[in-house]
Amino acid sequence: MANLGIPHNTIEVLRRHNFTFQKKYGQNFLIDPNVLQRVMDAAGVAEDDCVLEIGPGIGTMTQLLAERAGKVVAVEIDRNLIPILEETLSPYPNVTVINEDILKLDVRELISGQEGCPVKVVANLPYYITTPIIMSLLESGAPLENITVMVQKEVAERMQAGPGTKEYGALSLAVQYYSEPEVVANVPPNCFIPRPNVGSAVIRLTRYGTPPVQAADAGKLFAIIRASFNQRRKTLANSLGNAPGLGVSRERVAQVLEEMGLPAMVRGEALTLTQFAALSDRL
Ligand code: SAM
Repeated sequence: MANLGIPHNTIEVLRRHNFTFQKKYGQNFLIDPNVLQRVMDAAGVAEDDCVLEIGPGIGTMTQLLAERAGKVVAVEIDRNLIPILEETLSPYPNVTVINEDILKLDVRELISGQEGCPVKVVANLPYYITTPIIMSLLESGAPLENITVMVQKEVAERMQAGPGTKEYGALSLAVQYYSEPEVVANVPPNCFIPRPNVGSAVIRLTRYGTPPVQAADAGKLFAIIRASFNQRRKTLANSLGNAPGLGVSRERVAQVLEEMGLPAMVRGEALTLTQFAALSDRL
C-alpha cells in the first residue's frame, strides 16, 4: 500500500537516506493525502492507462499511480533520489524510473511502444521549468489524453485566462490551442515539504483531437502570438509591424485589422484565439 504522502513517513525516508533538498531542482514534496487524492481523481487514471510522471521525488505520487495504472514511466533528474525510488517503488513492477532531464528527452519516443494504451501525464512539476515542460508536452504531438499537474497558482491562472484579463497572454493562447484547461484545486504551501514561497494549483489540460481553430500555418500563428505579447502595452500594429522574423509592415497589419473590423489601436490582449488565427491567415 502507498504510504509516503504523510509528513512522518516522508521525513523518515529523507532522514534514513540522508537526503538534502536541491533548490535548483524545484524540490517541494507533497505531504498531504487529500491533495494527492484530488490529483488522482482529476487525472482519472485507469488500469489500462500508461502514465508519464515528471519528477517523482521520493515516489509519493508514483506509488499511487502504480496502484491505479497499467504502467508508469517516471523521469527524475536528481540522481540522489534514484536509490530512494528503488526502495520506495520496489513493490511496483509496473514502474520504470529514468534518471534524466525531461527537457532533454523526446516525449514521443518515451511513450512509444505504448500503442493502444491511453497516455496521461501526471506530475507535481518543478516550478522553475513549468512553462517549457508544458509547452514541450503539448507541442510534441505525442498522443497524450490529458496532463494533470501541480503548478504555481499564478501560472495555472495564466493558462486558463481569457481575453481582456491581465493574466491573458501567449501561454493562455498556446495552452488553449491544444487543450481545454481546468483548475481543479488550489493548494496552500503547507501541503509541501519544504514549503514553497507561492500558492499552488492543480490544473488538468484535456488535449483536443483537433485544435478548436484552424490556422493555415500554426508556426506562424504562434510567432504572431509571441510577438503580440512581447510588449503588452504596445498596439498590435506596433508590435507586429516590422517584428523580426514576421516580415510584415506596420501598414499591412493596420490594413488587416481594419478588414477584420478591429480598432486601429487594438492590443493583443483583446483578441481571442479565433481572431489570432484569422489575423495569421490574412497576414
Ligand atoms: N513528485 C514529487 C512529489 O510530489 O512529492 C516531487 C515533486 S517536486 C515539486 C519536483 C521534482 O522534479 C523533484 O523531484 C525534482 O528533482 C524533479 N525535477 C526537477 N527538474 C527536473 C527535470 N528537468 N527533469 C526531471 N525531473 C526534474
